Amino acid sequence: MTTAPTSTTSGVRRTVGLRPLITEADLPPARHFIDGNFAEGSTERVIDVVDPCSEAVIARIPEGTAEDIDRAVTAAVAAKAGWARRVPKERSELLHAIADRLAENTDLLSRLESANTGKPLAVSQDDVAMTIDTFRFMAGAVRATTSMSAGDYAENHLSLILREPVGVVGVVTPWNYPLLMAAWKIAPILAAGNTLVLKPSEQTPLTTLKLAEIVDDLLPPGVLNVVNGHGAVVGARLAEHPDVDMIALTGSVGSGRAVARAASDSLKRVHLELGGKAPVVIFSDADLSAAASSLRVAGFWNSGQECGAACRVLVHESVAGQFIEQLVDEVSALVVGEPQAGEDVEVGPMVSKAHFDRVTGYLERAKKEGVRVATGGAALDGPGYFVAPTVLVEVPEGAEVAREEIFGPVITVETFIDEDEAVRRANGVPLGLSASVWTENARRSHDIAARLDFGTVWVNSHLVLAGEVPWGGFKGSGYGRDLSIYALDDYSRTKHVMHNHGR
Ligand code: NAD
Repeated sequence: MTTAPTSTTSGVRRTVGLRPLITEADLPPARHFIDGNFAEGSTERVIDVVDPCSEAVIARIPEGTAEDIDRAVTAAVAAKAGWARRVPKERSELLHAIADRLAENTDLLSRLESANTGKPLAVSQDDVAMTIDTFRFMAGAVRATTSMSAGDYAENHLSLILREPVGVVGVVTPWNYPLLMAAWKIAPILAAGNTLVLKPSEQTPLTTLKLAEIVDDLLPPGVLNVVNGHGAVVGARLAEHPDVDMIALTGSVGSGRAVARAASDSLKRVHLELGGKAPVVIFSDADLSAAASSLRVAGFWNSGQECGAACRVLVHESVAGQFIEQLVDEVSALVVGEPQAGEDVEVGPMVSKAHFDRVTGYLERAKKEGVRVATGGAALDGPGYFVAPTVLVEVPEGAEVAREEIFGPVITVETFIDEDEAVRRANGVPLGLSASVWTENARRSHDIAARLDFGTVWVNSHLVLAGEVPWGGFKGSGYGRDLSIYALDDYSRTKHVMHNHGR
């Protein structure tokens, strides 16, 4: 880490002097990656890639078109039979080789990710570590995945169950964890024997292109393709393309709807990891200081731009005052700053001006609605899109900030009087990605976890993930699972072959 001098003004720790996180030499080729080559786009148009700490343009990538997607899909179709024929051991070895390459490039990938997203280096380093682990897990899992025994289930008929790849998978990824979300798709998709065309977020393409650059000699041409561009053009073409067998998107609910609609004509499979609004249900017997210190991380990791963020506290009214005091102590001590301004930086900027406006818009409207700001509550001085870590209290049931995904460094606090009210209100949002329950009572923790309508429920914890366990939502948070053998299942199809052997 840097030892560059720093200064803190208006709550943002800045690096003083010229010490850029990346140099020109660190950037990936500003092109698409199609059929094993970095390729020019079909037009001259470009998209600016911006550093959200300085607001400077750090790269320009080609603005892809439907034609670029079509070229990439043609390459993925051509590569599909050869890749599918490889036995699991071969695919596994390749995924391990990718993991090794990523590990060799940990420092570069972390710096690139932080330069493009503004996230603290500790977060980028964690992203890269989990990216590597995702490839290693899928490399192992694909060799250990077996299916139901072959046997006679109808008289004189032998049944074999084959697990096949789905074919060509289209992938669309978001800006909050650009490399990690790419890995959550690429690793199981390749492990299961599919080829893919991936469109990274137009705001954060650098680490995905870098991944393509550092593994391009490992994979056969056409197995992995990356096309840059806007969702409504390039993403939409992927979703509707008749030769794409499945489309997987991590992104907002609106993009999920658009993708599902575009996919409906060809009836391709759809896999959606969408937004979250995680309730944190704290009972009167909970360890309040453990909850408060856990929320310092789980609410503000990645600057709150996290689909599983612990953003909506529901606390029993008898302990609300005490809990809020502890939470405010934790949140007001968070260190906000640029990625290279010290290892202790915990919170960075919002990813873009548009997102910064969106988050501060929520704060302004909440204040007008009479919600009380316990700490933070406004933007911090620029340059850059920094927002103060915020706790909002006296939030009435149904308030906009308690209902909608803000996706920033903001925790709201509501109170409840009994279990039924806690469960009803926790479930009373259209999203169902993740939730947590805080209580020392084992019977209660089990019962409440069972009644919560969320794909992941933590008990006395929040935002702890592992490669072995599935991640994905219910209701408006989409369907399909990332991570674990459930992701391998999602990217595979099952074929039953039945032999009549009666004589
Ligand atoms: P977004 O929906 O704006 O963009 C996501 C991707 O979808 C981008 O690549 C974008 O270009 C593309 N896209 C947009 N419109 C499209 C269309 N019509 N057709 C095809 N593609 C389209 O989301 P974002 O702002 O990048 O990311 C934040 C959202 O992602 C949040 O809602 C967050 O909760 C969600 N997210 C969910 C998970 C999860 O695992 N459930 C993980 C990370 C982020």
